[in-house]
Amino acid sequence: MKAHKIAVIAGDGIGKEVMPEGLRCIDAAARKHGIAIQWDEFDWSCDYYLKHGTMMPADWKAQIGNHDAIFFGAVGDPARVPDHVSLWGSLLKFRREFDQYVNLRPARLMPGVKSPLVGREPGDIDFFIVRENTEGEYSSIGGKMFAGTEREFVVQESIFTRIGVDRVIRFAYQLAQRRDKKHLTSATKSNGISISMPYWDERFAAIGEEFPDVRTDKFHIDILTANFVRRPDYFDVVVASNLFGDILSDLGPACTGTIAIAPSANLNPERRFPSLFEPVHGSAPDIYGQQIANPIGQIWAGSMMLDHLGYPQAAADVLRAIETVLAEGPHTPDLGGKAKTGDLGKAIAEVIAGN
Ligand code: ATP
Ligand code: MG
Repeated sequence: MKAHKIAVIAGDGIGKEVMPEGLRCIDAAARKHGIAIQWDEFDWSCDYYLKHGTMMPADWKAQIGNHDAIFFGAVGDPARVPDHVSLWGSLLKFRREFDQYVNLRPARLMPGVKSPLVGREPGDIDFFIVRENTEGEYSSIGGKMFAGTEREFVVQESIFTRIGVDRVIRFAYQLAQRRDKKHLTSATKSNGISISMPYWDERFAAIGEEFPDVRTDKFHIDILTANFVRRPDYFDVVVASNLFGDILSDLGPACTGTIAIAPSANLNPERRFPSLFEPVHGSAPDIYGQQIANPIGQIWAGSMMLDHLGYPQAAADVLRAIETVLAEGPHTPDLGGKAKTGDLGKAIAEVIAGN
């Protein structure tokens, strides 16, 4: 069997501490399910930048462009390297050059994690947010006119291309179709944004014709955010433009109390280019070096990677093992325990192996 080649970029700070636990757990799942994985490690980070003047070598694209995925820790060392340098020098380059047009984040209530929403049980909340990742409101087209005068004003355009809208909406339908509830919600604001959002709605309905078995609805973004808090059990898959998706993909995990352990995937669904899997958290320099970082975000990101590579059962095994350890311990200090990063990784890997 041909091994899946995965580019491993641990990066900076706690990225270097949680990554070994991610590898340990995904290796355990791979052994159990007979999946061959070849890990290729790259030391692209702020340390690399301080030595070489760039976050990555000039031929970075040739070095990892043919890998099946990128398993990413975190970059950022704000005391020594400005955040825009570290961010634009790696993550955002991948997103653009590898056309990772879907950002996918789960909002799932986990056992042993305190949700800020009262009365919700694990199992109640389990949905995905699909965010458009390349266009929409985050264009840099526009500018300032009559600068410095009383007539001064700024304009910033939104761009919604048919290709860009259709492909992210189609991905969301396909994801919904794979799930039990087969329910897709679209985030809109066509009562206030009178050109781009009606277009989004139109394409959402048009693509829906290809998926007659998926139940759909749409909400304006204002009431949708309210419903994330009031009725989170209602949702299954939610698709949104770049700006609305940005907001929802923080709010969703926040409602389940899991933002510190949540994963995120930047996907090129056709697999023309590698997709990237990472924990939502950053490099957290304040706790780096103590081996107290919670590795669950990294391990959960690995579970999403297994799913993307075509191994849903192995992915589900990893997620179940995370839930077992969240319910029974050990816990790192962020969850009120005394365990070290490696204790959690080891415990989760053991559950995976013994499942
Ligand atoms: P970004 O790099 O995205 O700007 P940030 O600096 O805003 O991130 P993080 O690096 O995610 O934020 O860290 C915020 C705080 O949360 C940290 O200071 C740290 O104390 C805590 N934290 C983040 N990740 C973890 C983790 N895996 N385990 C324990 N605590 C964490
Ligand atoms: Mg930071």
